[in-house]
Amino acid sequence: MAKSNNLSKNAIFPKGEKLPEELSKYFSGDVWLNMLVPPDDKFNCPIGNVTFEPGCRNNWHKHPGGQILLVTGGRGYYQEDGKEALKLNPGDVVKISPNVKHWHGATPDSWFVHLSIETNANAGPAEWLEPVTDEEYNNLK
Ligand code: MN
Repeated sequence: MAKSNNLSKNAIFPKGEKLPEELSKYFSGDVWLNMLVPPDDKFNCPIGNVTFEPGCRNNWHKHPGGQILLVTGGRGYYQEDGKEALKLNPGDVVKISPNVKHWHGATPDSWFVHLSIETNANAGPAEWLEPVTDEEYNNLK
């Protein structure tokens, strides 16, 4: 309760709506999305504010055009396949090259909020892969 009150008070952008089922099935818990810049042909650069509840992360996935994350709240992780996970804090910037397999999400004990910038969005939508297992997630360094 304290955590969620704290989040809404400190959030920079409105949290938006819970992800619809066709996307939430690729996440391990509740996620909210506020599309600040919707997909279009003019900017070709969708930007969304993504809020993860504690412990929630997405499946392994790839972005054909890449992605940039700007962390605005809470504590989270980013991991590329074959590398150690990075702990993320507000102010961190993560540049994810096209087609690099990765996941991102909250730490077990904190909400996590980032802006997702879909670069080169005309390359196509994310390719969703297998979930991050509890064993992988619970054994991060
Ligand atoms: Mn991603």
